[in-house]
Amino acid sequence: MTTLTFDSLNPATGAVVGSHPKATPEAVHEAVGRAETAAAWWAALGHAERRRRLLDYKAVLTQHIRELAALVHEENGKPVGDATLELVLAVTHLDWAARNAAKVLGRRRVNTGMIGLNLAATLEYLPLGVVGVIGPWNYPVFTPMGSIAYALAAGNAVVFKPSELTPGIGVRLAELFRESVPEHDVFQTVTGLGETGAALAGDPRVKKVAFTGSTATAKRVMAACAENLTPIVAECGGKDAFIVDADADLAAAADACLWGAMSNAGQTCVGVERVYVVDAVYDGFMRELTGRAARLKAGEDYGPITMPGQVDVIKRHIDDAVKAGRTVTGGSGAVRAPYVDPVIVEDVPEDSPAVREETFGPTITVRRTRDAQEALELANASAYGLGGTIFSRNARRATELARLMRSGMTAINSVISFAGVPSLPFGGVGDSGFGRIHGADGLREFARPKAISRQR
Ligand code: NAP
Repeated sequence: MTTLTFDSLNPATGAVVGSHPKATPEAVHEAVGRAETAAAWWAALGHAERRRRLLDYKAVLTQHIRELAALVHEENGKPVGDATLELVLAVTHLDWAARNAAKVLGRRRVNTGMIGLNLAATLEYLPLGVVGVIGPWNYPVFTPMGSIAYALAAGNAVVFKPSELTPGIGVRLAELFRESVPEHDVFQTVTGLGETGAALAGDPRVKKVAFTGSTATAKRVMAACAENLTPIVAECGGKDAFIVDADADLAAAADACLWGAMSNAGQTCVGVERVYVVDAVYDGFMRELTGRAARLKAGEDYGPITMPGQVDVIKRHIDDAVKAGRTVTGGSGAVRAPYVDPVIVEDVPEDSPAVREETFGPTITVRRTRDAQEALELANASAYGLGGTIFSRNARRATELARLMRSGMTAINSVISFAGVPSLPFGGVGDSGFGRIHGADGLREFARPKAISRQR
């Protein structure tokens, strides 16, 4: 039987980067079967040996970092420097997961607190078995590795379905894993589109699905998982707010805002999309921001829009914002597919698509607010709640605002800094999804607590 294939394309040039099998549901189920066998072997290896193997894998990835960054650049379009940074962050997470799994998940005695009963207890976190990871194209290494590394360190086998836009890098990650773990199919990649993800999510032998992608698709993944009561962790979209308070360092805030909004051409789940600036510093902040935005260059500072259809969404948001608000930089002419230049628009009504929906492009709306409280209220009036940022020199007030921000993570006086930190949990509220990856919570996400009590 001939295997159907599909091509991955360079989004900047349209050139074919690679050709990959369209895995049928049968092929996915075969991979899950192999993973089930591998999971039992991998779980029995124990924490110490898994740690050794995963650190070896880290070394292999590090040796191949140039090759991998070049492949990310070709498939996703982002500059090679950004691709290299993504790989460094992925390897950092792999290292943390490998080194901390035993401490977080290993067996420990628990004080039962039972009055009048001499009851001893232990608690440990055991592997689930096979974990299905479905990843996006915008950070095709860093994002899936935030689940893959933690699932593997927790003792599970992984079947990874990369985005159809970035299959080659997904294949290469699993190929390189075999250099460290050649014995069994502990980490496999299945490529495909249209039916591959659903086949993986719907396989009853998959014990957890880690999905990163849009909110709409997360609902479909949940439906596929519902049949077998398979739990999922859903890392979905965002519409992150950036608040500039009256006592903020405006130059630092403008640098951070621009980087958070425009890096990866705005195709970042925790990218800055809505900016709220307190009246007292509004004009000063806008001067800093627009001066910097004018210096950004396509191809050097940001790449093309990776997903062809996304250009239409971005254009719709820009056109609508430009009509309703006041263009500071960019405007409708900024859309030069596959590139979109930075767009900044002021005074866009809060109910317009550019403020309500995820744009996933290098665009921001900026609004003047009476004070930080009003900025917070507007920031929180979103269906999404992934990340967010507050710039303020008043540490106490900034912390209070951060606590009240309806988001999974908030950065103070920096932007997106939580995403790269392996010891911090990452995830959102509302339409941004549920469950946590990264950190101790991320390890526990891929394990089941096992309690044993003993009467003495
Ligand atoms: P997407 O279009 O929502 O998801 C596509 C993936 O989902 C494909 O691999 C597809 O496989 C699979 N899929 C579709 N239907 C399925 C089903 N019923 N069951 C199982 N899998 C199914 O996502 P994307 O465009 O790649 O990613 C962009 C989004 O990701 C943005 O919204 C961004 O904000 C979000 N994101 C979030 C985070 C975070 O950590 N929160 C990080 C990065 C990106 P098939 O083709 O085989 O169906």
